[in-house]
Amino acid sequence: MEYVILGAGAAGITAARTIRKADSQGNITMLSTDTQVHSRCMLHKFLSHERTAEGLNFAETDFFEKNRIHWKPGVTVTKLDTAAKKVMTDKGEEISYDKLLIATGAESFIPPVGNLREANNVFGLRHLKDAQAIDAMAKKAENIAIIGSGLVGLDAAYGLMETGKKVSVIEMAEQILPIQLDKTGAYEYQKRFEKAGAAFYLGRKAADTIMNAEGKITRLVLDNGTEIPCDLVIVAAGVRSAVAGMDGEGIVIDRGLQVNEYLETGAADVYAAGDVTGLSGIWPNAQKQGETAALNMCGSKVAYTDRYAMKNTINFFGLVSMCVGLIVPEEGDTVIAREGASSYKRVILRDGKVAGVLLQGDISHGGIWQYLIKNGIPVDTIEKDIFALNFGDFYGMKENGEYQWNTALM
Ligand SMILES: Cc1cc2nc3c(=O)[nH]c(=O)nc-3n(C[C@H](O)[C@H](O)[C@H](O)COP(=O)(O)OP(=O)(O)OC[C@H]3O[C@@H](n4cnc5c(N)ncnc54)[C@H](O)[C@@H]3O)c2cc1C
Repeated sequence: MEYVILGAGAAGITAARTIRKADSQGNITMLSTDTQVHSRCMLHKFLSHERTAEGLNFAETDFFEKNRIHWKPGVTVTKLDTAAKKVMTDKGEEISYDKLLIATGAESFIPPVGNLREANNVFGLRHLKDAQAIDAMAKKAENIAIIGSGLVGLDAAYGLMETGKKVSVIEMAEQILPIQLDKTGAYEYQKRFEKAGAAFYLGRKAADTIMNAEGKITRLVLDNGTEIPCDLVIVAAGVRSAVAGMDGEGIVIDRGLQVNEYLETGAADVYAAGDVTGLSGIWPNAQKQGETAALNMCGSKVAYTDRYAMKNTINFFGLVSMCVGLIVPEEGDTVIAREGASSYKRVILRDGKVAGVLLQGDISHGGIWQYLIKNGIPVDTIEKDIFALNFGDFYGMKENGEYQWNTALM
């Protein structure tokens, strides 16, 4: 059996590992544009000089040899022929497959604002090569502008500030981390970033740019006319699935690469996993999808379920937060919040069930909230302080001492 995997990220590496466990004899070939395996979640550690490029590797150093994988780093697949079951590369090679996994991830989205797409000092932060280019340019940069204050934008800001750089962050929402946190939780981080020297422009959009004769943006112009001087611009305004060249007979691309519950595309023996599917944008889900697709490529029939849907963990300046489920309540929802000296907790209840939770400062009992959300367990019948709930509130004890689910609560 010839297995071919496109991409050596969280999904691709997990898939390769899973295939090798399930099929000790098949041939596995992996191709990746990346020239080395690296964790995108740790790119900020490269920017802050806490880790070298090698230190970002999240696979074992002998991963490819140990698992007998034919790895082709620095090779980009430019075309698929799903009828002939072949992929074509930028090196002019054609590689045949029996089972193909597309795990090509995503690319930073650079909006068509002013000269952002043409200038030579504008970068996304998605790949090690982005971080290396940013790091090289940051050495001489006085002012760094970052568009977007989600996790990627703040990762970039944090990493660069650790090396003493001055950053300005432009965010079109009225708060930072708008997808991850509510205003109260987000403000705790904003205060810490500001104290460390960051400037925020909230509720503002980058509307234009001023570029010099060398093709460098020297000023970002905001929608209220404010001009922000910059020598380097980082755009963290979202991603798009990496589907260039992935169209082929049976493949449907609609934002992400479309898959069914078994992570099969519409082309025979072609699967997709990870960010490229657009199903999720977080590491553990990419891994889970890689594993599920791989098992199915090896003949199982395993459905994918979004185990960690909408879960984010954030840690800047030693302040940790965890949010699961809904962030923004809707009309009719009940919101219960509690602020302590060093912690903040907020729960959103809908129809008597927990729809979202945000924990900041102390995330030690996060598991119970994930459990309640995932299983849709009603909590309105329990007469207890909601923030004191624990697993024991949902289980009874059998005569033999085993725990049993309290079905009366369902
Ligand atoms: C800065 C940053 C911080 C993040 N922090 C977190 C976090 O804290 N927690 C979290 O859960 N998630 C985080 N994420 C998201 C997480 O990194 C992604 O969800 C995860 O990497 C997705 O894995 P993947 O395998 O689908 O794709 P990727 O990791 O993007 O891997 C894609 C692979 O495909 C290759 N490739 C692409 N196109 C081609 C082609 N045409 N031919 C051959 N190879 C190709 C690439 O070279 C790469 O090897 C972060 C992301 C970024 C960018």
